[in-house]
Order: sequence, then C-alpha cells, then structure tokens
Amino acid sequence: MAILYNTDKSLKERVADCLEDDFKHNAIKTAQEVFYVGRGKLVAEMEGWEDLRRHAVEVRNHVTENLDYYVKQFAQNAEKNGCIMHYAPSGDDALWEVLDIFEKHGASYAVKSKSMMTEEVGLNEILEETGIKITETDCAENILQTAESKPSHIVVPALHFDREAIAQIYREKRGYDGSSVPEEITHYLRKILRHEFMEAEVGIRGCNFAVASTGSVTLVTNEGNGRMVDSFPKVQIVFVGIDRIVPDLEALDTMMALLPRSAVGAKMTAYFSLDSGPAGPGEVDGPEEVHIILMDNGRHTLANTEFSDMLRCMRCGACLNICPVYRHITGHGYGSIYPGPMGLVLTPGLVGYDDIDNMVYACSLCGACSEHCPVGIPIHDLIREHRIKIVEEHKNHAIEVPIFKALELFWSNVPVYKFGMKVGEPIMKALAHGDTALAEDSAWIPVVKGWTSTRDFDILSSTRFRTWFKEHKEEQAAQKAHGVEGGEQ
Ligand code: SF4
Repeated sequence: MAILYNTDKSLKERVADCLEDDFKHNAIKTAQEVFYVGRGKLVAEMEGWEDLRRHAVEVRNHVTENLDYYVKQFAQNAEKNGCIMHYAPSGDDALWEVLDIFEKHGASYAVKSKSMMTEEVGLNEILEETGIKITETDCAENILQTAESKPSHIVVPALHFDREAIAQIYREKRGYDGSSVPEEITHYLRKILRHEFMEAEVGIRGCNFAVASTGSVTLVTNEGNGRMVDSFPKVQIVFVGIDRIVPDLEALDTMMALLPRSAVGAKMTAYFSLDSGPAGPGEVDGPEEVHIILMDNGRHTLANTEFSDMLRCMRCGACLNICPVYRHITGHGYGSIYPGPMGLVLTPGLVGYDDIDNMVYACSLCGACSEHCPVGIPIHDLIREHRIKIVEEHKNHAIEVPIFKALELFWSNVPVYKFGMKVGEPIMKALAHGDTALAEDSAWIPVVKGWTSTRDFDILSSTRFRTWFKEHKEEQAAQKAHGVEGGEQ
C-alpha cells in the first residue's frame, strides 16, 4: 500500500525536519485559523447543527452495519445506469483492474482529478512505471506532481508551498517564465491543462459520496477540473471507497450540509457534480464508458473491529484544522497520506502496526478533534485504543516493558517508593548541578532527554506531602496568631 511515505526516516526525524521549517508552520497556522474561524461562524449561525450531526452519525452507522447490502445496491443501480463495475478487495486488485482497462483501450494518456483512493494505492506511480502518462489536473495536485512532493493536508494538499515556491517549481520543471502572481500561474496552468484534457484518452477521478439508491457518484470541488475530467475523455474510471456509500439522496443532502462547512468553512463548494453513468443517447457531453472501481482495501475488516466508527469519516479535514500537534509537525511529519487525528486512526487501521513507527503517540489526547468531527467520531478514544492494542500485541518498544514494570514496583510498594524518593532527590540535584529542575542541559541523559529538551523536569522531593502539609498548617497558624495577613483564605 502506498499510504505510508518517507519511511526511510523515523517519525522523530520527519518531525524534526518539519519543526525546522518555519514556512510550513506559518502556512498551517494560517490555514487552521481561516478554516476554524469560518467553520465556527457557519456552525453558530446554523440552526440544528447538532441535530444534523446526530442524524449523520445514524446514517453512516446504518451503512456500516449494512455494508454488504448497500455495496450491492449501489453496484446494481450503477450497472443499470450503464456503468461497468469492478470490485477490488485490495489496492493491488484495483491497480490490475485499471491496467486492464488501459490495455483494452490501448490507452496511454490519462487526466486525473483529486482522489485519495488513488493515492492510497499508488496509482500514479504504477501507471508511470508502465509507460502511461497521467496528469493531475487539480491545481494543488498538479503542483505536488510537478514538485514530486506529498500532500500535507487532505483538503488543501499543497499548503506547504507559497506562491514564490510554486512559480519556481514551474520555472524549473516546466519552463514557466511568468511571475509569482497567483492569477498568472493559474492562467498558465489553465492553458497547459486545457490541451491535456483534449488529448487524454482516460479520465480518472474520485468520489466524495456514492448514492446507493440511484447508483450515482458525486464530486465536490472548488475547481472546474473535475467536470472536465469526467466529461472530456471517452473512458472514465471512478474510484469509490466502499465507506463512501450513502443510502439515498436525502442522506446525501445531510452529508453535503456538513462537508463544506466542516472542511473549509463554506456553505457550499463552487462545483458539485452528481453523475449517473455514461452519456446517454443524444447527450453531447460525458464519457462513452464509465468504469467504477469499488474499493475495499481493508474497510470491511475495519467495519468488524472497535475502529468501525472511523468508517463514518467524510475526509473533511476538520480534525486537522483544530489539532495542536498537526499544527506543529504538519502533514509531512506523520509520513502517511492520511495525516492528523483522522490519520492516526485510519492509517494503522489499514496498514497495521508494523510499519507506522510511533505514529499513534503523535497526539496529546486533548479531544478537540472528536469535538469538531461532524460525524461524531471519538477520534482521541480510538487513538488511545490503538495504543492499548499495540501493547496487547507486544508491538511496543521492548524497553518500555522493564521501564513500566519498574514504575509499577515503585508506585505500588511503600518502602520502595520511600527509598526511591529519598535517593532520587540527591541524585537529581547532582545531575541538575544545584538547579531546582533538570533542564535543557540534561540532554545527555538517555530517556529523560525526550522530556528535558523542551521542558523542565522538577527535582523529586524527599519531604513527604503529609510532613510538608503539617508544617505548612503550623506555619499558617503561627502567622495568624501574630496577625500576619495573606494566609490561606
Ligand atoms: S475524522 Fe471527522 S473531522 Fe476528521 S476528516 Fe474524518 S469526518 Fe472530518
């Protein structure tokens, strides 16, 4: 699976790289504030927001509990609309299906609009390896493709580049000779992409929601590229995750009331398409052939675990926009195409624990994500659940076991505890060279340095709390007797 990237570096190294990049922080901070404030304003002025959220939870849970039924209903209705269905249990199956379609049509050129499912299976890399040219047509995705970079946010993927960097990327890679004025860059892109839309034999796209009762697929974008991808090329391939199915148009309406508000703090996006099959007789626009890749890739398995709530996710990014950890380590710190709080649940849910390093610990468990999630996913609880499972499955670091065993002994045995406090104080004092806390200069001490490199570690006190409290009370009483003000109120 292509969910993980930059895995030749450890989580710590990736995070260190990101922490050094001030531009990224400021970009993320600004985006978080814009989206967060926008969302907050719309939510405050919308009547029944919480009712809508509750309804969305019911709808999404209902689909998860009846996943097979809705997958079948969607597939049957899409087939009735004239679509060709392909069921892909794994990412590799999806890739084979796509390669078959290209081979059958002798096609070697495709345009694509943003799709997380294609990122998940590494479609671009495989097509390019087999000599098929694929062009990303979403502005941000095109920037990433040209720069050979990875998305840093699930909704605004090229957040880590500013206009200067973008202009420079096109200058170096594509011979762009214009300025860094955004309008000029987009006009340039529009010109080159228009030609590519006309030339491409296959259009590849994602799907925000698939409607079971009508067999339709939706596309929610703020650029017109999606509509060009799904109407210009003769052959269209739509990637649909089975967790994207909603029962009917009414349920779709509920999701669409939540999605743009939660994602970018807008009532609606510039474009919303609901496509039902290839062009019909007499219709001018639209593809001649529509293939739908209905992709499982671990979702059925997830539906039967304690992480099934995650299948409600609509990829709005609201949890990223509020997360204090994401704000600092940015999307690239996680090393997954699904970053931030949602990624900490979904990534190990899809790829397991072996290759994710310490990813699930990149969370303070503050719970802000769960509060903001439009479909009420208890994200921080699920992150904690992953941590528990990692320990239960003995996938945690081997050194943790003796450390926690020692702590258990220390905290649960009174004589050991007393002895530890007694010897701990002078040892720590010696290490702190007379200071009241271990600080940055303790970075040479293994394990402790993880804490002291950024914060102080107060020295243990061998004075028992009871003793301190008794002395404190006696002192106060003495002060009171002598009429000294300012004691305990
Ligand atoms: S977990 Fe919730 S807030 Fe985060 S992307 Fe998914 S739906 Fe949005």
